[in-house]
Parts: sequence; structure tokens; C-alpha cells
Amino acid sequence: MHDRIRPQPGILDITLYQGGKAAIDGRPDAVKLSSNENPFGPGERAIEAYRRAGHALHRYPSTDHAALRAAIASTYGLDPARIICGVGSDEIITFLCQAYAGRGDEVLYSQHGFLMYRISALAVGATAVTAPERDRSTDVDAMIAAMTARTRLVFVANPNNPTGTMLSRAEVTRLADALPPAALLVLDGAYAEYVEGYDGGASLVDARDNVLMTRTFSKIHGLGGLRIGWGYGPGHVIDVLNRIRGPFNLSTTQLEVAEAALGDTEHLDRSARENARLRAWLQRALTDLGVKCDRSHANFVLARFETEAEAEACNAHLLSEGLIVRQVGSYGLPEALRITVGDEPACRRVVHAIAQFRGER
Ligand SMILES: *Cc1c(COP(=O)(O)O)cnc(C)c1O
Repeated sequence: MHDRIRPQPGILDITLYQGGKAAIDGRPDAVKLSSNENPFGPGERAIEAYRRAGHALHRYPSTDHAALRAAIASTYGLDPARIICGVGSDEIITFLCQAYAGRGDEVLYSQHGFLMYRISALAVGATAVTAPERDRSTDVDAMIAAMTARTRLVFVANPNNPTGTMLSRAEVTRLADALPPAALLVLDGAYAEYVEGYDGGASLVDARDNVLMTRTFSKIHGLGGLRIGWGYGPGHVIDVLNRIRGPFNLSTTQLEVAEAALGDTEHLDRSARENARLRAWLQRALTDLGVKCDRSHANFVLARFETEAEAEACNAHLLSEGLIVRQVGSYGLPEALRITVGDEPACRRVVHAIAQFRGER
């Protein structure tokens, strides 16, 4: 640390976020299953909109995102006035911490919760508080026990990353019912589209004045590289977040591609269908190989080994076979590997390599 020029308290406690490994030297055939990306990429409509957007790059973008908000609202049956769009849902998480938490305040999430909650909480000098999980699932009783009068934000990813587990609607409602007076519950729905019949928490948002939902174009829409997400919340919260949002936080390209992606139901349906089919196949194959995994509700599975050393060795073998999966020691799960559900050839390669690994030992 510099002796005079110092950042705000909390910032040096942030561990640099390590993204999923993207490539292997000398392996152009490597398959990346480390960042929960859609194996089919973006849809054709999104790609076309991206090309078209090039012609208008000299224009400043919309500041109110009215067209994208209207499209989101009509797709999901929401109130467009209570939607806010950001640079990934990460930016919505950042806004929430900036607006509602500071020194002396607590930001609560579960033991294996998404890393951005901790990073955004520490960035504003707030205290990050975790509640233990039960069998890698958010434990509502433990979350409630960890709430205090200082709790300002409670983050729950549903389904959660990296565990893939999910709370029932009744459990989420029970958590919402127990919120301290000054706290806001944030339901992170990054993987909501992979859960059939799930609204990401939108109906709970509509029923309360202290629940907000975040969503993203990074996962099922296959647009992680473009950085677009959104939030849906009570009017008083959206008003606050819009005050700190940069007026030009999203480019015209981001806005138009996202809008086009929303309308590509064919791409979305295919992505969800293939994910469900291959996820079930992958979980079954891993279980048959004696590798434990909880039932996943997202586009990845968490494979659990007996020890950290075994997970390390399996990861090394997968890399030698050109397969990149995610080590999740930074999430407190060093004995596990998170594997994105790829396309069918990728899933077969992973299972084949893990079978080799298990046989070799
Ligand atoms: C991937 C992911 C996000 C999405 O982040 P973006 O900034 O929208 O790309 C949000 N929450 C969780 C739990 C995730 O896994």
C-alpha cells in the first residue's frame, strides 16, 4: 500500500476477480466450459442487429433506454417504468451497493454466493456478511439469523452460481417476510430462463416494496461479451438507482442487440431445451462415474470430488484433454469443479475425460 495515497476503507480487502480460464496454449480445439456461456452463441437476430448498429455509431445512445425497457416489459409482463438497464447485471448490483450500503452497513448473502456481492459491498466500505448453507443450498433460517438492524441488502441468486441449487417460492417468500425494516432483498435471476415456469421473482417484486430482481443477457441470450443486464424493482428503488446511473451507461449497440435477442424465441427455446436435456445427461453420467453432483437448475453442474487434490488432478486431466472447466476454490468449494453444460459433443468429451481420469486412478 502507498504511504500517503490510499483508497477508501474496504477496497484493499477485495480479492481480484478471476474470470474463467478462456484458452489453453497450443490447443486451438479447446472447449471453454468455464463461464456458463451459451454453447450456441448469440442468436441470428442479435448478430444481425449488431451489424446494423455499426451504421449509427456516431450517434449518442438513448439515455432512458425506453425501447429496450418496453421490449422487456412486454416480453415478461412487467411495468416498464420500474425497469433499469445496466452494463451487465453486475452494474445493477454495483448501483444497489452504492445507493443503499456504506460504512457500518451490512450486505448479506449465503456462504457460496456469487462473488460480485462481496466485491460490490467492500467497494462501498460496507461489511460483507455470509450465512452458512445447508448441503450447498441457501439456508433461509441461517440467512434470517444473520440479519441485523444494520442489514441493508440481502442477495440471493436463484438458481445460485456456482452451486446450481434453487430455493422454492415459499422459501423465498419466507425470507422476504423476515427482512429487517431497512433492508432490500435482491433476487439475482441470471439463470431464471433455464427454470421452466419460473418468473425470476417478478411477482414477489410486484407484491412488495422491498424486493428487487436482477436479470441478464449474458447467459441464455449468449451475449456475455456485450455486457447488458437489467433490474426490476419498486418505483422508489428504481428512482434512486437511476440517479446514480450514468446517462450513457449503455451503447446503442448494446440496447439494440438486447432488444433483438429478446424477440428471438426460437434461439431461446432451443437453448433452454438443449440445456435441460444435456444437463440431465451430464448429471446422470457423472453420478454413474461416482462423481457427486447436486441437482442443478442452471446451465452448469457442480461436480464434487472426494478431496481438493482429486479435483485438482481431474482439472489437470481435463486441461490436458483440451477441456476448460471452472475451479471454484474462490467460492469456498475447492473439492468441486463447475462445468458449463456445453453442446452435445462437448458434454460427451467431458464425460469421456472424467471416465478416463476415474479409471486411471
Ligand atoms: C453470470 C452471473 C451474473 C451475470 O452477470 P452479468 O454482469 O449480467 O454478465 C449475475 N449473477 C450471477 C449469479 C451470475 O452467475
